[in-house]
Amino acid sequence: MIISGIQKFSTLDFPSYVSCIVFTPYCNFRCKYCHNSELVIPSEIEKIKNTFIPEEVFFNFLKKRKNKLDGVVITGGEPTMQSDLKNFILKIKKEGFLVKLDTNGTDPNLIADLLENDLIDYIAMDVKAPLDKYKKIIDVDIDTNLIKRSIDIIKSSSINHEFRTTIEKSLLDIDDIMEIGKLISGCMKYAMQKVNIHENVLDKNYHFLGAYTDEWFEQARKMLVDEHYIDNCEIR
Ligand code: SF4
Repeated sequence: MIISGIQKFSTLDFPSYVSCIVFTPYCNFRCKYCHNSELVIPSEIEKIKNTFIPEEVFFNFLKKRKNKLDGVVITGGEPTMQSDLKNFILKIKKEGFLVKLDTNGTDPNLIADLLENDLIDYIAMDVKAPLDKYKKIIDVDIDTNLIKRSIDIIKSSSINHEFRTTIEKSLLDIDDIMEIGKLISGCMKYAMQKVNIHENVLDKNYHFLGAYTDEWFEQARKMLVDEHYIDNCEIR
């Protein structure tokens, strides 16, 4: 498992639990607004390779945190790009910790395998856009059937889950949010996240318009609930 960083303590990232966070490098998306280039762009990843954390160092840390932490959040980059993710999770579970996985949903077979084997306690999947608008956001070609399959697998599982969308004015409008609502309708939780345009965004030439107002988000939340797509909708 390639670990590019560890956050030793978080009360925010794993709902209801105290966790640590494991960051993994490499991602198959290039979201315009992403500000984690050191976890996404191979030449940037190369520059921080000497700071990667060996797996045994992480497990030594984890063993000392029994009774202090409930779980481990595995995030990226895109964690499902790590070929030994399943083994890594098995080792964490063996130590008695809960696991939350953050994913962009491009590996439905792996997600299904992890869920069927009860290896995940919470899964958070990014839904970047309605399926026909994915490329506009992620700037690469992908088979969006993979995204649809991951959504369906997660929704039909009994695992605690959330879908989430980062919303930027020029990239998504209210109709797009309703389309996403249809796509994920019946899910346990949906989080609409206000974009944070950082100086390190991946697409430095794109003219971002920024985040919508609080009123816009409230209206979008109300429409999703009124249409009965989503019961539990958070604004972050
Ligand atoms: S924001 Fe997009 S490019 Fe950045 S890590 Fe997440 S999925 Fe990958």
